Amino acid sequence: MTLNPAIKLAPAQTGEADKTEVDAPLDVTRLLTTITDNLVGMLYRCRVDAIWTMEYVSEGCHKLTGYRPAELVFNTRVSYDQITLPEDRDDVSRTIHAALESNTSFEVEYRIRRADGRACWVLERGVGIRSEDGRLAWIEGYIQDISERMAANEMLREAVRRYSSIFEHATEGIFQTTLEGRYLNANPALARIYGHVSADALIDHLQDISRQLYVQPERRTAFVRLMQEHGVVRNFESEVYRVDGSVIWISENARAVRNADGSVQFFEGTVIDITERRQHEAALEYQANHDSLTGLPNRSLLRDRIEQAIAKAQRDAMRVAVVFVDLDHFKLINDSLGHHVGDRLLLEVADRLMTCVRSHDTVARQGGDEFVLVLTEQHDADETLAIVKRLLDVVSQPWLHNGQEYGLGCSIGISCYPRDGDGPDALLRCADVAMYKAKTSGRNTYHAYTPELNQAINERLELQNNLRHALEREEFRFYYQPRVDVASGRIIGAEALIRWDCPVKGLIPPDHFISIAEETGLIIPIGQWILQEACRQNRAWQRAGLPSISVSVNLSPIQFRHAGLVQSVADALQQAQLDPAWLELELTESFVMHDAERINVAMQSLKALGVDIAVDDFGTGYSSLSYLKRFPVDRLKVDKSFVRDIDSDPDDAAIVRAIITLGHALGLKVVAEGVETHAHLAFLQQHGCDELQGYLFSRPVPAAEMEALLRGTAASAGQCIAQRIE
Ligand code: C2E
Ligand code: MG
Ligand code: MG
Repeated sequence: MTLNPAIKLAPAQTGEADKTEVDAPLDVTRLLTTITDNLVGMLYRCRVDAIWTMEYVSEGCHKLTGYRPAELVFNTRVSYDQITLPEDRDDVSRTIHAALESNTSFEVEYRIRRADGRACWVLERGVGIRSEDGRLAWIEGYIQDISERMAANEMLREAVRRYSSIFEHATEGIFQTTLEGRYLNANPALARIYGHVSADALIDHLQDISRQLYVQPERRTAFVRLMQEHGVVRNFESEVYRVDGSVIWISENARAVRNADGSVQFFEGTVIDITERRQHEAALEYQANHDSLTGLPNRSLLRDRIEQAIAKAQRDAMRVAVVFVDLDHFKLINDSLGHHVGDRLLLEVADRLMTCVRSHDTVARQGGDEFVLVLTEQHDADETLAIVKRLLDVVSQPWLHNGQEYGLGCSIGISCYPRDGDGPDALLRCADVAMYKAKTSGRNTYHAYTPELNQAINERLELQNNLRHALEREEFRFYYQPRVDVASGRIIGAEALIRWDCPVKGLIPPDHFISIAEETGLIIPIGQWILQEACRQNRAWQRAGLPSISVSVNLSPIQFRHAGLVQSVADALQQAQLDPAWLELELTESFVMHDAERINVAMQSLKALGVDIAVDDFGTGYSSLSYLKRFPVDRLKVDKSFVRDIDSDPDDAAIVRAIITLGHALGLKVVAEGVETHAHLAFLQQHGCDELQGYLFSRPVPAAEMEALLRGTAASAGQCIAQRIE
């Protein structure tokens, strides 16, 4: 192809400068050759044939294809079709022919294989040229290297692909919303989190975020405020509604996207579902603050509740009562019936306590068998006392478990804000001290805190310390109280009753220290000593030629649970060489019935030794007649509380008559305790009671006096007994 050398630039029409150019005529051919040869890219003219035979290519051919123009022109070495990548050829051909047919120019992008083997993207622009006979004979055009642009485009496309993949496949929800609370964009994960079938469905549905999404619409307000103030929110946790109405917890991280003028354009951010974590945290918090058995607040939550109650009471000028409830003899049930029964009992008590309080009060489990109630909004002491009395009443209702009835009771201590303290520690301590006082004053009762109680508690602690040494220091004394046969008027037995001759306090009655001995476990060695001493004394009386009597020893339930009891009874008898027939063991009724089956077995082993067994304090517990029939029991001892008013209270009289009838029906001897007056005596005689014990005949007396009674030499005693019986 040759350029038309005749083309000349038209000379300038006016101006000085133009004239100088006239002297140096423009060589347009040279100019165009210079331009084409230096053009980046390749000018060409090719035939419209199957292989695009090049007739002319500019110098740029070498740079573009790696082939010299001479190698390409007339297909000397390669045809242009050959260097077009085979997979692109059809496409190129189609595009060009379509343009040629419509007499338009074309533009097509494709790849060529360079001489060095490298593929490179080119952009070809061209137009068809017709021959003189009107045939489409050539194409003239320009081909340029667009590899860099294509690479940049590819990178862009790749980046878009990557980001949209992140957006589409992220496990976090991603959103863009307007300031007013409408969704501009949401990804599938967000739709999933909120329960929508697709992101579009979410965008359609959620028209007002604050109202439709947040459980507490104020959260949206807080979100927008944080955005306005700081431009970001981090770990913004809220409860939201899913489309099905269920509630989940989410955490949002978001930022405000601003316009050039700094105004907020929209918000964008991420959402994760933290419901599981929240539930886990809530469960942990619940565990940390609640008792696992009863589900009641535990010690730590109790303190909070007391603090809250105090704060409220301060505002309202009211009182707060802290009520410490400790079950009586719970250990006994737990140890003898097993922990699962103990647990059931605690659940029962928890339920009962709950029925006594109002919704704003607290029932907490302090541990073991201790419960604490926080009574708020108390106007005066009477109001508190009314609740406490109800508590006592409700808790002491018998408990039916597995067809068996159990007697319950509790000791209650009360402290009061502001009188007894101004914080949880002080109030709990005072209520505890008061509870202790209730325990020691006979159980199943309540006591309010007074400062003097502290001293009582200290004394009890001191007593506890001294008791540890009492045995080795031989400070225990035995008193004996005669048991008299109604028919003969003779002393047929004596109950051994222990006293503690404390160097500091003087003679201490058993009620004051047996419970401490039980709590500390000291009852085991002390009990063993009691058995030995009672047997030894009885044998000594027999050896001294006194009439043989039976000596009764009281057994503590703790001793009974101790594995070595049978052996230690046998040892005591053996050491003293006492005939077992002269030893009687007393067990309290409430204890016997706690674990009837097991106790029956233990009783049988004791009975097998040949000793007698008496059920003490009969009438105060809940005996099952069927058990009573099967137990190897010899005597029922009617509790002195029934005897006391036997002549004035028809109920007591009826109870005692019933016990006598029952005992006889079961083939048992019936003993009345606490016989103090002639009226008691007359009643008991009249109703066929077998044996009597009480101040009317003798108080418990030291061994020497008991010996005198047995000899019948103590004038006022022996004769007196016979006389009184007549
Ligand atoms: P208990 O076995 O029911 O003993 C009868 C209690 O009634 C004795 O009190 C006795 O002094 C008292 N008493 C006797 N006659 C009368 C009376 O006519 N009127 C009144 N009001 N009371 C009378 P004591 O000696 O203070 O013993 C209290 C409890 O201590 C005993 O009740 C028994 O459960 C326990 N106890 C006494 N000695 C021992 C012992 O060696 N070991 C164990 N484990 N407990 C003992
Ligand atoms: Mg007794
Ligand atoms: Mg008794």
